[in-house]
Amino acid sequence: DVRHGPILYLEDVTVSFDGFKAINNLNLTIDDGELRCIIGPNGAGKTTMMDIITGKTRPTQGSVWFGSRHNLLNMNEPEIASLGIGRKFQKPTVFEALSIFENLELAMAADKRILPTLTARMSGEIQDRIEEVLATIGLTELRHRPAGILSHGQKQWLEIGMLLMQKPRLLLVDEPVAGMTEQEMERTAELLTSLAGKQSVVVVEHDMGFVRSIARTVTVLHQGSVLAEGSMDQVASDPKVVEVYLGA
Ligand code: ADP
Repeated sequence: DVRHGPILYLEDVTVSFDGFKAINNLNLTIDDGELRCIIGPNGAGKTTMMDIITGKTRPTQGSVWFGSRHNLLNMNEPEIASLGIGRKFQKPTVFEALSIFENLELAMAADKRILPTLTARMSGEIQDRIEEVLATIGLTELRHRPAGILSHGQKQWLEIGMLLMQKPRLLLVDEPVAGMTEQEMERTAELLTSLAGKQSVVVVEHDMGFVRSIARTVTVLHQGSVLAEGSMDQVASDPKVVEVYLGA
């Protein structure tokens, strides 16, 4: 497991919604190239934590650093995205009528609303990047078919591919295997594992079997702070974690 020091650092972060602390003194460090899983019961603050990293939600207190230089609290959402932080939401949003290739082509434009004509004159470099991403997500053979024909799992991979077009440094992935078949889950584990190292990947996931299959380090959130952190076996045998999950 190769570690290169922190890429993301949340320090004493608190988020209050009308006095209720959805995030409460959260400290979290993600290393460069790491694949981290975040688990925790409903309401633990997982979504709010992702929203803080992308700039959608502002902390009431604390600081958030990306790389060694970037204080994310001084930046807006597009600025944070342009640093190379990509987020994949649970529901895939691909353009069904466009081909898989065209979806990746469009993803080169940071703003999905940009007109396709603007990206029509592609450089060879972009073509090469698309082929590389197609191979990574395993959709090379299908690249000229409309995205609408893809299975749910394949659409999720295409959307991850769309994020990869921007060469992100950190990928935030929200419940990637919800609704997937067993086989698709295995393929997704391979995909996310292969991405780590090239970029950091943070996965929020409920499926414990899946978490076990991919994670080196698991962070358990509870009531807005870190309850436990370590290997899946370490956190699963932690009495505090057992209590939270059995009590949920
Ligand atoms: P998770 O993703 O782990 O299920 P969330 O981050 O969605 O947890 O929510 C954490 C807590 O904060 C929950 O109790 C939720 O109801 C509350 N919460 C989230 N967003 C808001 C908001 N905009 N206003 C008020 N409460 C919120």
